[in-house]
Amino acid sequence: MIVRMIQSISVCDICGNEMSSSHYHLPAEIKEANKIKFVHMECCSADEIKKNLLSYAQNQIRFYHDIVDLVNDTNMKKIKDFEMKYGMYEEVSQGILIDRDTYIAGLISELKKR
Ligand SMILES: [Zn+2]
Repeated sequence: MIVRMIQSISVCDICGNEMSSSHYHLPAEIKEANKIKFVHMECCSADEIKKNLLSYAQNQIRFYHDIVDLVNDTNMKKIKDFEMKYGMYEEVSQGILIDRDTYIAGLISELKKR
């Protein structure tokens, strides 16, 4: 997912303009059946912004639930499953770190304008 973001990040899938023409330095995502479109936050409808916020929150909840599960019932299989799902330290530390607070603040800032 991080790799796909780099590849398709250059142009907005809605207006076709450069991603860098956005006021925000992070794209919003529109999930379709078999692909994710990266778009300007400005180009999203209120519904699309809300979907971005909701799916972000749901992913975070799942992530923290998985941490709690791992702590409550620790074994090597669970540790390996966790690393498969979220990446090992080496992978995570070399990935692109998205400032999630900035992402949420950007989406909410656009939502105010709808
Ligand atoms: Zn656009």
